[in-house]
Amino acid sequence: MKTLDQLELNGKKVIIRVDFNVPLNEDQHVTDSTRIIAAKPTIDAVLEAGGSCILMSHLGRPKGITPELSLKHIVPTVAEILGREVKFAADVIGEDAQAKAASLQAGEILLLENLRFHAEETAGDTDFAAALAALADVYINDAFGTAHRAHASTTIIAQNFPANKAVGKLLQQEIEAIDKVLKTGEKPVLAILGGSKVSSKITIIENILDKVDHLIIGGGMAYTFVKAQGGQVGNSICEDDYLDYTLELLEKAKAKNVQIHLPVDVLATTDFSNDTERKVININEIPSGWEGLDAGPKSLENFKKVVLEAKTILWNGPLGVFEFSNFAKGTIDLGTFIDESTANGAFSLVGGGDSVAAVKQFGFADKVSYVSTGGGAMLESLEGKTLPGIAALNE
Ligand code: AMP
Repeated sequence: MKTLDQLELNGKKVIIRVDFNVPLNEDQHVTDSTRIIAAKPTIDAVLEAGGSCILMSHLGRPKGITPELSLKHIVPTVAEILGREVKFAADVIGEDAQAKAASLQAGEILLLENLRFHAEETAGDTDFAAALAALADVYINDAFGTAHRAHASTTIIAQNFPANKAVGKLLQQEIEAIDKVLKTGEKPVLAILGGSKVSSKITIIENILDKVDHLIIGGGMAYTFVKAQGGQVGNSICEDDYLDYTLELLEKAKAKNVQIHLPVDVLATTDFSNDTERKVININEIPSGWEGLDAGPKSLENFKKVVLEAKTILWNGPLGVFEFSNFAKGTIDLGTFIDESTANGAFSLVGGGDSVAAVKQFGFADKVSYVSTGGGAMLESLEGKTLPGIAALNE
């Protein structure tokens, strides 16, 4: 796979798949520009190398042309973040896009309209991909968030650039971060999996058992493991259909010399809400009518030791219902331990949905080594799948 520094970009038109799928408020103003900021290094590098940029992205899930989801709404934010003028094409592969791409000069930036205004995008249509490709000389994929989709702009388009395609800087960083955890990480390697359900993380657990030395299982997932081993979990979230399976996983972990760490105590309550009665209970003895919503103090003490000894850390999923302030302590403390371990030299990657939300909300984003920008793409990478968007750059 080529990096963009390995391509001749001087005087070239470079079409870049970015992930500008940003949240907008009711007035169509961008409320979180993280993804635009994340694409800046690639865009700057292309312009500095003497090229011009044709940026393409999807926004939301429109069915056909949907004015509220036009990418024109984000043009001022993109221009401000890049510190340059950004031209806008009112269509994707139509006359306006073609004319504006044809007259684009070195150093200029053109943003195309929302790719998903065309059903051909998600269908991975070859003709649509070829029409996008015809706008440019070089293709760069920098959209990790959609790299697990075989869409026209993320994967199929690459066929039109047998030699002139490369991975963007953000996508490259994401690939390196995952490799650091799953392939080249310094031992001991620790994965922390939390969140609500075992069933949604099975493929990840199966895949990482071959790569890690320690696995912390927290959050709602833990209760299925505890009940399977004979514990009483009261009304805690538990997947009875997976009891046998979790026992198998524990056996597999043993055979592979992976140490599993489960919570030993929990902060429990009688009702799934923030302001009810709370008490710390041994995780094996949760009475009926009570449910565990956060890790307890002894569990956190145990987890702290493991996190501080780890040299490579992957964190996916909260340790409790962090959306309720009274049950956020476990997740916040875990963030603090990872922060401390990172400051001591460990590499830490946070990825996938709610743990990313948690590190942002509690201010840990700058204290871990890397926060992934892709939810589904990150989870599929952890499952050991080759993402089509990345494979297409290798072909
Ligand atoms: P996931 O999407 O599977 O990563 O799960 C994230 C969700 O798990 C968050 O919304 C948490 O509130 C929830 N969660 C974490 N711990 C628990 C628990 N002990 N009981 C119920 N839900 C939990």
